[in-house]
Amino acid sequence: MPLSKQQLEALRQAIESRRAALARELHDDAARMREETFGALAGPVTDTADEAVADLLSDLDNAELSRDLAELRALENAQARLVEDGFGICVDCGTEIPYARLSVQPATLRCIDCQRLHEKTFAHLDKPKL
Ligand SMILES: [Zn+2]
Repeated sequence: MPLSKQQLEALRQAIESRRAALARELHDDAARMREETFGALAGPVTDTADEAVADLLSDLDNAELSRDLAELRALENAQARLVEDGFGICVDCGTEIPYARLSVQPATLRCIDCQRLHEKTFAHLDKPKL
């Protein structure tokens, strides 16, 4: 059953508000990280050892940051598909993704079966949540 206009509109709004919240969060995180890295950690005297420590810590923090960035990209991707068509269609098998699944994960690219298969196939590479 294709998505109704109301369902599409609800998803569009859900995607946009999530995207906006995430963008704000990322902005705050980046600002906080800059402060922590170059303020408190590196201290007023910046030599190479301090920089190495600061780099290491920002790398650790970046795991969360890059997860958020990946989600942000997925949401922007979903917004593009809403405009261009193809939204709610599984990229792997071409079937319609049920509204129940989209309402929980509006940025998802796959139906539940293909997603499971995808995660199994790529589980050793990373852990996609969408
Ligand atoms: Zn599929």
